[in-house]
Amino acid sequence: MQHFINVILPIPLEKLFTYSISESEFQVLEAGMRVAVPFGKSKIYTALVYETHITPPEVYEAKEIHKILDEHPIVNQLQLKHWRWIADYYMCTIGEVFRSAMPSAFLLESETLILRNQRGVVDEGALKDDEFLVYEALQHQSMLRVDEVRAIVDTKNILPILNRLLEKNIIILKDEIYEQYKPKLVRYVKLGSAYKSEDRLEELLNSLTRAPKQSQVVLSLFQLQATDKKPIKVTDLERASGSSKAVIKTLIDKGILEEYHIQTDRVNYGGTTDDFDLKTLNEHQQKALQEIHESFDNKKVTLLHGVTSSGKTEVYVKLIEDCINAGKQALYLLPEIALTTQLITRLQDYFGEKVSVYHSKYSIHERVEVWNNVLVKKAKAQIVLGARSALFLPYSNLGLIIVDEEHEGSFKQFDPAPRYHARDAAIVLATLHQSNIILGSATPSIESYYNALTGKYGYTSIDRRFGDVLMPEIELVDLKEQTRKRRMKGHFSERLLAEITQTLNDGEQVILFQNRRGYAPILECTTCGHSPQCPNCDVSLTYHQFKKQLRCHYCGHHIALPESCEACGSPTLDTKGFGTEQVEQELKSLFPKSNIGRMDLDTTRGKYGYEKIITAFEQQELDILVGTQMLTKGLDFRNVGLVGIMNADSLLNFPDYRAHERSFQLLTQVGGRAGRTQKRGKVIIQSYNPYHQILKQVSTNDYEGMYKEQLYEREQFLYPPINRIIKITFKHKNFNRLNDAAEWFAKSLMNVFKAGILGPEYPPVARIRNQYLKNVIIKIPLGQPLGKTKNSIKRIENSFNAISQFRSVRVIYNVDHI
Ligand code: ADP
Ligand code: ZN
Ligand code: ZN
Repeated sequence: MQHFINVILPIPLEKLFTYSISESEFQVLEAGMRVAVPFGKSKIYTALVYETHITPPEVYEAKEIHKILDEHPIVNQLQLKHWRWIADYYMCTIGEVFRSAMPSAFLLESETLILRNQRGVVDEGALKDDEFLVYEALQHQSMLRVDEVRAIVDTKNILPILNRLLEKNIIILKDEIYEQYKPKLVRYVKLGSAYKSEDRLEELLNSLTRAPKQSQVVLSLFQLQATDKKPIKVTDLERASGSSKAVIKTLIDKGILEEYHIQTDRVNYGGTTDDFDLKTLNEHQQKALQEIHESFDNKKVTLLHGVTSSGKTEVYVKLIEDCINAGKQALYLLPEIALTTQLITRLQDYFGEKVSVYHSKYSIHERVEVWNNVLVKKAKAQIVLGARSALFLPYSNLGLIIVDEEHEGSFKQFDPAPRYHARDAAIVLATLHQSNIILGSATPSIESYYNALTGKYGYTSIDRRFGDVLMPEIELVDLKEQTRKRRMKGHFSERLLAEITQTLNDGEQVILFQNRRGYAPILECTTCGHSPQCPNCDVSLTYHQFKKQLRCHYCGHHIALPESCEACGSPTLDTKGFGTEQVEQELKSLFPKSNIGRMDLDTTRGKYGYEKIITAFEQQELDILVGTQMLTKGLDFRNVGLVGIMNADSLLNFPDYRAHERSFQLLTQVGGRAGRTQKRGKVIIQSYNPYHQILKQVSTNDYEGMYKEQLYEREQFLYPPINRIIKITFKHKNFNRLNDAAEWFAKSLMNVFKAGILGPEYPPVARIRNQYLKNVIIKIPLGQPLGKTKNSIKRIENSFNAISQFRSVRVIYNVDHI
């Protein structure tokens, strides 16, 4: 009898691929194990066994596999089911899901580029012969393709060798980005080891009687140690003792105190776990928790709608506690890597080393480590905190999923496929595990709130801030009027400047929000009106002053700042609009004594980019933080008195049916960073259109009003949650071919569906990286079966691909979130 396996290849194939295996391989192979397989003329891929069987494929001769790569499955059945759902629902292939679900170290293939790991310490004697050959070759050549390595060691079974070299830290893969920046370490102090005994301690205090300041520091250290068993930060000691950095430094120099550092973002936890006491919930949190439990008892997805700073995180912590006490795994999903920094510390305080972190900025080694820990159910990974990719880990008994900031658009992956929404995929994952799932937000998405109102989801709310801190006071400033009355300094109204000054004088911090990075979005010639465009995309280049460059935010193309207009030659170049860089610069001249930081894509590259800025702001080394929407999400800063929104209009005018919902969420969230402790915070929103309905709703905290109005619009124009939508994007470098193709596809859709087809239309940016784009939108009534509809679309795509001139046109589906 012959034996076969069907495997998932990490490429967009519609079907599973079949390979033949020997009788003995058949005995050991199981679904979820990896095998190295040949594909096409000369490629080698890492594939995943989906099933074993004895039926030969009909249309091709099954090739043999090269090698089995795992002794045990590293992917389980629940994951395979989940991937299958993602592929079907989001209209992509399971191979694409596989590729994006696995850490890339698990997916070596013949195209992978291999480099020497400069940081690895190599024990040459411990290398096997074949490993040494590769190691030696990399001394002479900086980079090798897997194919080339195969020639060097002269074997087909190259992937196992590379896997071993990766484990030994001898090689790295090309797509790994190693961070140059050393993470900012938090400084802690303890009493010098020489003073541990009581006698020596008494001697010490006696000897310090003539140095009252130093003695005060030592006493404060004792006090802190007595009240709080946790490690003591230098900044806390400074505050508690009321003494200067210099005094503490003297004590450290004398050896009376010892300083040490803890890196906050790493998974390893240095503290003790025995101080496992959670905060006591207040009555509102208690009530919410109660209602969540009831809703969980009814097996419902549950929405926790709690205003900013109402203490949602503490409620999650209680749920996690229950979950891990029941011996189950918990997954805490966040929309943005930036948020993990703050939350890790908070969760580790409660759960110690049970918390693991998983996201794309981690090196592949760290990701493989977490994967394996989850796989074997190590206690170390019982709680996983992560961005959307954490959904794909090999959980086997999830008891709880938390989707924090569930309204966030960044839960949607747009490129590459699978183009999935992590919140929705999490709900499916919870169903597969029969796990509880809670969605939390201060500003729920219209869909989730709709689902709660219609009884599909359970619902509970907390409508006041923890400690009865008031919601921030929101003031709208009319930029038109301020400009007319000449009350503007740069982009700052008189009101905003006065409030910034006041806040800084009170010793509090300021956050300023501007939705664009760079210095100015457009450079324009005042003589002829020309503004430099990207040669590859249909957009103007953005002016970045610091680098004296014009950059394209779509493809990265950049040129040096021209001195005169490239069209008419006049030196009359001027900027239009403004970004974070310009706000930062204006601030520096308006508040020369203040420390100003900026948080946007340009300042947060690399693994520790966020951490540097967030920690500096937290530790109050910065007085003012300017940033893009990155700083709107769930960050908890203690000392922010004022949030200023530089210009709300660009948000409101975005051409998208969700623009108003998004503006409401974003403005409420960024405003929510103000006044999170005792004092009431203040928010100033600058706008040319202060009477806009959404701005009114934001300033009166009227979520209900916003929801009703938006739902009415969705009903009028048949958008979700009233209808489902799928967007099909066509992409090609030839303009005419693209138009023909999109036209053909849209007509075919019309023939099948009769109604609900919009387009083809050009998107606002109709060419990116020299590819032209066109969209067709399909609106699907809720009653119409979704699976069938997608099958019909796929059938049209099959006929489309049979037409030779259309075959090279890319067809991209986005389902629900477009
Ligand atoms: P949210 O997630 O709703 O924005 P947080 O959970 O961050 O709110 O809570 C806001 C602040 O209130 C945090 O600093 C948190 O430590 C504090 N807090 C919340 N609940 C409690 C509690 N039960 N006891 C003590 N402090 C709390
Ligand atoms: Zn000109
Ligand atoms: Zn471009």
